[in-house]
Amino acid sequence: MLSPDAQLIRRGLRVSGVVQGVGFRPFAHSLARDHGVTGTVSNRGGAVEIEVQGTAQAVAAFVDELTRRAPTASRIDRVAIVELMPRTESEFAIHESATDESPGIAIAPDVATCPQCLADVDDASSHWGRYPFTSCSGCGPRFTVVTAAPYDRERTTMRPFPMCAACHADYLDPASRRFHAQTIACAQCGPKLALGNADGKPIDSPVQISQAATWILDGKIGTLKGIGGFHVFCDATNLTAVTELRRRKRRDEKPLAIMVDSLAEAKRRFEITPAEEQWLTSSARPIVLLRKRREIPLAAGISAGLAHTGVMLPYSALHHLLLKAVRGRPLVMTSGNAAQEPTAFRDDEAQARLPAIADFFLTHNREIVSRCDDSVVRLAGTQHIFIRRSRGYAPAPLVVPFRSPAPTLALGAQLKSAFALGEENRAIVSHHIGDLDDFETLIDYGSSIAHYERLFRLKPQVLIHDLHPDYASTHYAMQRATRERLRAVAVQHHHAHLASCLVDNNAVGPAIGVCFDGTGYGPDGAIWGGEFLVGDCRIAQRAAHLKYVPMPGGEKAIREPWRMAAAYLTQAGVAAEESLAAIPASQLRMVAQMMNQQINSPPTSSAGRFFDAMAALLGIRHVVAYEGQAAMELEALALTREAGGVYEFTLSEAEPLVIDFGPTVRAVAEDVRQKRESALIARRIHRTVALMIETVCRRVADRSGLTTVALSGGVFMNALLLEETHCRLAQAGFKVLLHTRVPPNDGGISLGQLAVGAAQSE
Ligand code: ZN
Ligand code: ZN
Ligand code: FE
Repeated sequence: MLSPDAQLIRRGLRVSGVVQGVGFRPFAHSLARDHGVTGTVSNRGGAVEIEVQGTAQAVAAFVDELTRRAPTASRIDRVAIVELMPRTESEFAIHESATDESPGIAIAPDVATCPQCLADVDDASSHWGRYPFTSCSGCGPRFTVVTAAPYDRERTTMRPFPMCAACHADYLDPASRRFHAQTIACAQCGPKLALGNADGKPIDSPVQISQAATWILDGKIGTLKGIGGFHVFCDATNLTAVTELRRRKRRDEKPLAIMVDSLAEAKRRFEITPAEEQWLTSSARPIVLLRKRREIPLAAGISAGLAHTGVMLPYSALHHLLLKAVRGRPLVMTSGNAAQEPTAFRDDEAQARLPAIADFFLTHNREIVSRCDDSVVRLAGTQHIFIRRSRGYAPAPLVVPFRSPAPTLALGAQLKSAFALGEENRAIVSHHIGDLDDFETLIDYGSSIAHYERLFRLKPQVLIHDLHPDYASTHYAMQRATRERLRAVAVQHHHAHLASCLVDNNAVGPAIGVCFDGTGYGPDGAIWGGEFLVGDCRIAQRAAHLKYVPMPGGEKAIREPWRMAAAYLTQAGVAAEESLAAIPASQLRMVAQMMNQQINSPPTSSAGRFFDAMAALLGIRHVVAYEGQAAMELEALALTREAGGVYEFTLSEAEPLVIDFGPTVRAVAEDVRQKRESALIARRIHRTVALMIETVCRRVADRSGLTTVALSGGVFMNALLLEETHCRLAQAGFKVLLHTRVPPNDGGISLGQLAVGAAQSE
């Protein structure tokens, strides 16, 4: 027993960030043993609190290594240190979590199975050999199994599985990687696999995974209960199976993601940069968009018309075993749903909806508490872009440069919906919910909000919603505000984009916001989407925008880009019949009439619609099967060719500035008529837009004196445009802010809404 003497010091540490449920306490414990220090560690609120005692040198080394060697799945935002009086103690103890009511609860995102656990799974002699739910204190499901905070086994869906003696011994052994691992389980005590045919009838088989693999290699379609929901899967090299899967899912053209067994296999099939490799193998294991190699094709139609395919590596022991059993064959691994519906994650839901899609079920009896779709990331050079921030990231709180004065709920927009809870200087941005046009998704939206409020013990007092009066999220806010007598605040869509990009970069502005997307409600009633704003989180003004063009047919013009091409051509004084020869003359006449008489042709400044129009004009795509398809294919085409030169555009002297792409449209129409190579034209269009952004930013900077530019909006998922624009702006001396923590698309809107709400309440 050490007694307190002059040589011993004691420090209190409060470590905040993502530190709970990621193996932080066992890590601190083993570190304490390494350094011969005593003390305690416990979860409190959202933080880990440590008291450490030893020689000054040992304590300093402990604190240093605590941050440097922290578990991979953790994220330390801040370590606060206070001096304490040394006391008499002989060990370093882990204290049970306290269910205190203090704010600041953090729930860790799900973590992919770690290499050590996979090694155990591959080792037949190990206690965890071949067990598909192996995990340790540093890996495994978190958010998707937790029912309440703090994260401890009894408050997870592991509760029905009492540990066996062997697992319990490891759980209590400070020397074990599974010390205090809340999801520890083995074949004797843990969740079990079940294999069934489409009717849900169990198939009694001791070798379920190998039977499932046999079926897959035979061309059958299966559904797999994973971490955040059900997947539908099949052999990605079997064209018949892939085509059938698309037919049953009613998913005609949208690209499908695949899972490959290893990094080596990914490298064999795709061109991978070091940055892409890092994301692909990270402990969040997102889907990464990788450039295809032509030599080793997958089945046609995995991602037709695109240069990239969404690829992920196995992220659970079950995936790992399955990919081994199919002998490394790449698998289509797509969400378990039909068409627009949300991914199934409950067993009853899956049994009701998925038999129409799958020939068999590979499922298990561990309940999924919250749906969490796979995250999607793409790289523009070394710069990453979140297309979807979900599994592996949500609901880790983001530290933000503003304070919500009261618990606040921001409701996002309509498509790619994600909501956010704001509390103090933290924003909890939800997992990806989906498109609220779909009724099932809307139901899920409401129950997910309720789940987060319970989980984080937050009762919102302020609701923030989009200015659009008809968004389902706006309706939710209005109804709830009336029912619960809460304050509701409307935020203009592109102002929210600007604010989102600012706080994503820990900035509050002012800045020039380049907010380019498909659709956003403008205060003048027009459909905005090619906006240059000047402002900060509190207030923003429109400094420039694309010239309005009519959208003949309204929403229909989004699904049929040829309508936008006709509108742009007409406005530029080019005969649409000649440039859009593939479109029946009667259709073109109808559209011309609509525009002439201003029937169902709302004006828009949308940059997304401009890209659509260009894709249609080039004959790439006249009708789209999913949002953004035409623009994505235009980018894919442009990526195949380097080209110099730009097209002309004009700027008005008005306030706000108006950008007219008329000269561009005339030149592109002429290039198409001359049968110039489409790839060159596509490349030149991208370059023109990047140059336009630079030119307008210079003009706006002259007027406003601002030198920071924030790029936001779904158009900036276009990596080619993002890179060129970023490069030009940086060379022009601007400080450029890009999204890094949330997507540039409407998945990041709720973060911006929180920021605007907080700023306006000051
Ligand atoms: Zn592990
Ligand atoms: Zn066990
Ligand atoms: Fe948007």
